[in-house]
Amino acid sequence: MGIIVQKFGGSSVATLEKLEKVSEHIIEEINKKNQVVVVVSAQGKTTDRLIAEEKEVTKKVYPREHDVLVSVGEQITIAKLAMLLKSKNYNAVSLCGWQIPILTDSNYTNSRIRYIHNETINEYLRTGNIVIVAGFQGIDENGNITTFGRGGSDTTAVALAASLDAERCDIFTDVDGVYSADPRIVDTVKKIKTISYEEMLELSSMGAKVLHNRCVEIGKKYNIPIYVKSTFERKSLGTLVTNKESFLEDLTINGVTKDDYISRITIVGLENKIGKTYQLFKLLSENSINVDIIVQSFGEHITKDIAFTVKMNDLARTLEILEENKEKLSAKEILHSENLSKVSIIGVGIANKPGVAASMFEALYENNINMHMVTTSEIKISVLVDVNDSDLAVKAIHQKFFETENY
Ligand code: ADP
Ligand code: ASP
Ligand code: MG
Repeated sequence: MGIIVQKFGGSSVATLEKLEKVSEHIIEEINKKNQVVVVVSAQGKTTDRLIAEEKEVTKKVYPREHDVLVSVGEQITIAKLAMLLKSKNYNAVSLCGWQIPILTDSNYTNSRIRYIHNETINEYLRTGNIVIVAGFQGIDENGNITTFGRGGSDTTAVALAASLDAERCDIFTDVDGVYSADPRIVDTVKKIKTISYEEMLELSSMGAKVLHNRCVEIGKKYNIPIYVKSTFERKSLGTLVTNKESFLEDLTINGVTKDDYISRITIVGLENKIGKTYQLFKLLSENSINVDIIVQSFGEHITKDIAFTVKMNDLARTLEILEENKEKLSAKEILHSENLSKVSIIGVGIANKPGVAASMFEALYENNINMHMVTTSEIKISVLVDVNDSDLAVKAIHQKFFETENY
C-alpha cells in the first residue's frame, strides 16, 4: 500500500460527466488499497475566463490580485470532486494550497514552491480520506495567495509526490501520452513510450504544454516516475517519464514543438564598449526577465545591435524597463516585433550531426517559411518564424524527420 498522486487537467474535469470518469480512476486506486492524493485544475476554460474578466476591469496587471482571482477556479473543482466522492460513500476532503500549506516565494503569477507541510495531508490519509488538492496555488510567508504560472497544476502534483514520498505521479490529460509533436497539429505523430527527464524537460520548455516544465525538474530531482495518460481511454498505457539510460552517441529525435507567444526586441546602436552587453542583460535579470535567443552583431563599428527574445507576457514590462534605461545604455533605438513563434526540434545527439540543421532548414525552405533567428544547443535547434507559419513549420519539420528521412 503506497501513496499515489493523480492529477487531472482542465479538460478532464470540465463537466460533471467527466468528473464521474475522474472518480472511477480514483476509486480504482483505492480498490488496490493505495492511498490517493488527487490534484485538479480549474474546470475547462475557467482560468481563461477569469483572466478575460480581469482584463475587463483593467488592462494593467496587479500581480497579487491576479493570483487571488485566478486561484479561484481550482477551488471550485476540489469542492465538486470531494462532494461527488462523498456521495458515493468514499471519505474525501478538499484542500486549497494555503490549507496544506504549500509555501512559496512571493513571485506572484510565477511563484516557486519552497516547502510543503505534509502533516495535514498525512493525517487525512491516515484516517482513510482521499485528499483532493487545488492545483497551481500556494501561499507565501506573509499569507498571500500565489500561483505557479499557466499549466502549473502539474507542478503541484509532482511536488506533492516528492514531498509525500509517493510511488508515482499519474498525470491524466486529454491525450494518451507524449507524442513526437502536438497531435492537434500533426496527425502522423508517434507516441513516445518512455522518455528521460532531460529530454522531456526540453520538450516542455520548448512549448509541449502536455507537462509543465517545472514538474519535470522536480521529477528529475526527486526521481519520481511520472506517467502521462488519457483520462478517457480506459486502458491507456501513456508515456513514462523517468531516468532512462540513453546512449550518448545515439541520435534520437524526440519531437518537434512550438511556442507561439514569443516577441523579439532589437536594441539598435548600443555603444560598442566592453561591458555594455553585460549591463543590458544584468538589468533584465535584476528585473526577473527571462531572455531566450540572443543575437549580437559583430561589433566592428562604434555601435552594435543586439536582438533577443522574451515571452509575450514579459514584453510590455521589458520595453518599459529598457525605455527607462535607454540613456544609461546609450542605445539609439529600441524596436520590437510581436507575433513570432519558436519552433524547435529536440533530441539527444543533435549537436554532433550536422545534417539535422540542414534538414530542418530544408523543410522550412520547401514550404517557403522565413526564419528570423536560429539557436542550437547539444540537444535542440530552435528557429523563430512568423506565428502564422508555425503550424505549417511543425508539420513540415515533423514530416522531414519522422516520415521522410531515416533518423
Ligand atoms: P491539461 O488541461 O490536462 O493540463 P494541457 O492542455 O495543458 O492539458 O496539455 C495537453 C495538451 O498538450 C494536448 O491536448 C496537446 O494538444 C498538447 N501537446 C502539445 N505538445 C504535445 C506533445 N508533444 N505530446 C502530447 N501533447 C502535446
Ligand atoms: N488552471 C491553471 C491554468 O489553466 C492551471 C492548470 O491548469 O494547470 O493554467
Ligand atoms: Mg496542463
